[in-house]
Amino acid sequence: MAKTRDFRTKGHDSNPQLTPAQQATLDLIRLPNDDRLTHPSTLSSQIEAELEQATADLVDRLDEPLWISKRQLHAVNSCEALHEAQADEPFVWRIPMTRGQIFHKCIELSVHLWPKRSATDLVDEAIASIIGHGDGLAEFLTSLSEVELAEIRSEVTALIQTFFDTFPPLRSGWHPTTELPRKVLLHRGKIVLQGRFDLTVGRPEELTAGRVVIELKTGRSVPHHLDDLRFYALLETLVVGVPPALIASFYVDAGRVQVEHVDEDLLRAATLRTTRGIERLVELRLGETQALKRPSGACKWCPVAESCAPGQAWLGEAKANGAW
Ligand code: SF4
Repeated sequence: MAKTRDFRTKGHDSNPQLTPAQQATLDLIRLPNDDRLTHPSTLSSQIEAELEQATADLVDRLDEPLWISKRQLHAVNSCEALHEAQADEPFVWRIPMTRGQIFHKCIELSVHLWPKRSATDLVDEAIASIIGHGDGLAEFLTSLSEVELAEIRSEVTALIQTFFDTFPPLRSGWHPTTELPRKVLLHRGKIVLQGRFDLTVGRPEELTAGRVVIELKTGRSVPHHLDDLRFYALLETLVVGVPPALIASFYVDAGRVQVEHVDEDLLRAATLRTTRGIERLVELRLGETQALKRPSGACKWCPVAESCAPGQAWLGEAKANGAW
C-alpha cells in the first residue's frame, strides 16, 4: 500500500516536458498568486439572501422540493415549452450520449488510478466500470453490437489521446478533483440548487480564491456554456464561502480552453440570472404562468414542433432563407 502511494506521488509530481498545447492550457488555467482575489466573508450570505428573497412569497406553496441545475436554468432562458416537452418524454440513451459519459469516466480514472494507463486501457476500464454499475447506461452499452461498441471505443480513445496531448498532466500538488458535487439548500430545502464540476484544480486559502472549475466539453462551443459555468461559480461561492478564481471550458476536440476570471461583477450577473430563473421555475411549477415558446435552431429536433405554431413559422422562414 505504502509502495503504491510513493509511486503515485512521484509520478504525479514529476515535472514532465509539456507540448506547446499543454503549456498554452497551463498558462491560461494557472493564475499567479498576486492575481487571486480576496473576497469579503459576507459574500455568500449576501448572495443567499438575494436568492431567497426573490421567491419568499411563492415558496410555501411548493409541495415538493424544486431541484434546479444548469439545465433547468438554461431551459427557462431558452424555449420553456421545449423544456416541458422533454421533461414529459421518457429518457432514452442514444449512442452519441455515451461518448461524453465514457470520456468523463476515463478522466476520473486517469486522475485517481496509478500507474497511469494508456488511452485505450482507460477506455476499457471506464466501460467495464460503467457496466459494473448496472444502471441504464450499463444496460444500453451491453445491448450494443460489437461493432457499435468498437466505434464508441475508437471515438473516446481518440478524445482521450487529444486530452492527454493538450491538457497538462494533473499533478497531485494541484489538488485535482473530478465530479465534485455542490448542493445549495434554499428555504430549508424547498429549493435545491445543484451541480457537479467535471474537473477542478487548486483550492482557496481562507478568503482568497484559488480553485479553477473546468468543464470538459466533447462537443462544440455554445454561448450558454459560459452561463453554466457562472452558475457553478455561484454554487462554489455558496457552498465554500469563497468563489473560484477562474472558470473554464476545455473543448477536447480542439484541445483549447476558454477561461473567465471570477469577480464580484460576474457573481452579481450570475445571481441575477439565477434569481430570475428560480422565480420563473417556481411559477411554472405552480402553474401560475404558461411556458414561453422561443423558436430557435432547437425547433429542428423539438418533439412538439409539429403542433407548435411559432416553431413552424420559424422553421418555414429558416427554410425559405436557406438556413440549411
Ligand atoms: S418547436 Fe420551437 S418554439 Fe415550439 S416548443 Fe419546440 S423549440 Fe419551442
